[in-house]
Order: sequence, then C-alpha cells, then structure tokens
Amino acid sequence: MNVLVTGGAGYIGSNVAAQLLEAGHSVTVFDNLCAGHREAVPPGAKLIAGDLRERDEVLSLFSAHRFEAVLHFAAWASVGDSMLSPEGYFRNNLIGSLNLLEGMLQGQVKKIVFSSTCAVYGVPERLPIVETLPRQPSNPYGLSKKVVEEALEWYAEIHGLRFASLRYFNAAGATPERGEDHTPETHLVPIVLQVALGQRPHVELYGDDYPTRDGSCVRDYIHILDLASAHTLALQALAEKTRIICNLGTETGSSVLEVIECARRVTGHPIPVKISPRRPGDPPTLVADSSLARRELGWRPEHTALEPIIRSAWEWHRTHPQGYASEVGAVSA
Ligand code: UDP
Repeated sequence: MNVLVTGGAGYIGSNVAAQLLEAGHSVTVFDNLCAGHREAVPPGAKLIAGDLRERDEVLSLFSAHRFEAVLHFAAWASVGDSMLSPEGYFRNNLIGSLNLLEGMLQGQVKKIVFSSTCAVYGVPERLPIVETLPRQPSNPYGLSKKVVEEALEWYAEIHGLRFASLRYFNAAGATPERGEDHTPETHLVPIVLQVALGQRPHVELYGDDYPTRDGSCVRDYIHILDLASAHTLALQALAEKTRIICNLGTETGSSVLEVIECARRVTGHPIPVKISPRRPGDPPTLVADSSLARRELGWRPEHTALEPIIRSAWEWHRTHPQGYASEVGAVSA
C-alpha cells in the first residue's frame, strides 16, 4: 500500500515506518522535524518536511500524492508539558489532526491508524483498563487525543472513514537503529538512562505518596517493536473492519522505583533519586487489558518483561550518548 506516515521522524512513527517498509509498503513520511529526527527516518521512506498545522500545506500534500492509508503519529506527547502549555497541544494535536482529516477527505483516503493514548482514560475507575471505561482525561494531552477519537467517529459515520485508534501505554525500548530522543527529555526511561550516562546528577521522582505498592506511579511499559507491529496488523485489519479501538500494553505494571531499580541492574550505575513533588496531571496507575488487541488484530507482543525493554533502550543510549546528534557527529568527524 502507498501510505503516509505523519510524525514518521519521531520515536514511534519512525519505528513503525521501518516495519511498514519491511512489510512491503511504500512509505512517505510527513514531519515538521520540530521533535523528530531526519536520521530516524528509515532509508527507503520518502521524507517531506511539512507542518500539519498549515491547512493549505496539508491539502496540497493530498493533491500531489495518491495515498491509500494514513498512519498518524505527529503530535506533542508530554503530560507534564501539556499541564504547563495546553495551547500547543490543542494547536498541534487537535488542529493538526483536523487538517489531516480534511486532506484525507479531499484525497479520498479512507483508512487511518491513529496514535491514541491511555491518557484518554484519566484516573481509571477500574484496573486493568478495558476500552469500554469512560474517557475522562486528567490533562490537556489526553483531552487532545480524546477529541480526535471523537472526530474519527464522526468521519466514520458521515464520510465512511475506516479507523483504528490505538491507545498506547508507555512506549519504551529501542532497536539498534532507532531510540527515544526528545529535547527537552521528559520521559522516564531516557531520563533514567541519562543519569547512568553521567548526563544528569539524579532522577527526580515525581511523587512518592501515591496509593501504589511503593508510593510511586505505576505504568505499563511496552517495547517499541511490539507497539510497531500492532500498526502493521491494524492497517491490514482495516481491509475488513471499519472501526478498531484498542489498548496496547503488556498488562504488567511497573512503578517508577521499579524502573529505576531495573535500570541500576542493567547499567551497573547507582542512579541516585531525588524525591520531588507530584507532577500535575499524573494518574497513580495505568495498566492495560490488551486482550482486545490480541483478538481483533491477532497481535502477539514478544517483549513482556521490563528488563529486556530497558536493556534495549540502554544499548541505544550507550551507543548514542547525544541521541541522533551522535550519528551526525560520527558522520562529520
Ligand atoms: N516520572 C518521574 N520522573 C521523571 C519523569 C517521569 O518520576 O523525570 C514519572 C512520571 O511522573 C510518571 C512516570 O514516570 O509517573 C512515567 O512518565 P513519562 O513521562 O515517561 O510517561 P507518561 O506516563 O507521563 O506518559
């Protein structure tokens, strides 16, 4: 299939783009490179630098190409940041997605795989989280994704769009080629590994008084390769199905302190911790029930334990201490 991957220079999008190419699809990446990296775009994909917030740019993209499906990753994705500057989340995640949907309508592209999040649930009523629980986001990031899910429902009903909304839990880990590299970094796993690399003095633990087994927040960390494989399956499934909404997680929760302890074992570094105040917008525990993804997509995650996930991330960070900038340095040196 000829597919458009928005945000395909980012952490998740670039890994999915690589798997789509392996599966024989033709991939065009559309990315404004504000958070993505040119070096992350897999060889074999065509990169178009452009911005989803610019409606005319998006409409021209769909006039110039005949895409058969879209995988939409381009978005801002930091809970903490969204509590400080919600406007960027609404402009990028909401307006960008609405422009994209208009472009798809104009270009008669009828299939989309959308990068959603467990943040749509807010503080869940029950655990593990099933897809039928109410969506009550506790931060603007989660709200921006919830509103796009709602827009997809209406596009499906009114325009016959087929969509898969994949609600990610915490993407982590790396392949030898592609890892997690944000500036500024806000996500737990790369921050912990930056401490192990001596780039930060300690990890700030955002809250040690949550109602969890050790007082720190519990999340469901899923390997980037498993997350990516669900997208290829979702794209295939849209040949038959019109509407897919499912969680992607390992169904195992790890606390922030457990992640740090695991990283100590993997890196051999003591990784000091500084207790800090809670980060606004953080639910105490988010753990997936992913049985629907297994049933609907035939998805079989392969990396279910935390340690191999952290180990793969460590391999990438160790070999790319400056993130993708390490590669640029290596080439020009
Ligand atoms: N966290 C932390 N210190 C950090 C970064 C994150 O204690 O420097 C915590 C954060 O409060 C959350 C968990 O780690 O409970 C995972 O945060 P992350 O930003 O990686 O992902 P999120 O769950 O927000 O999508």
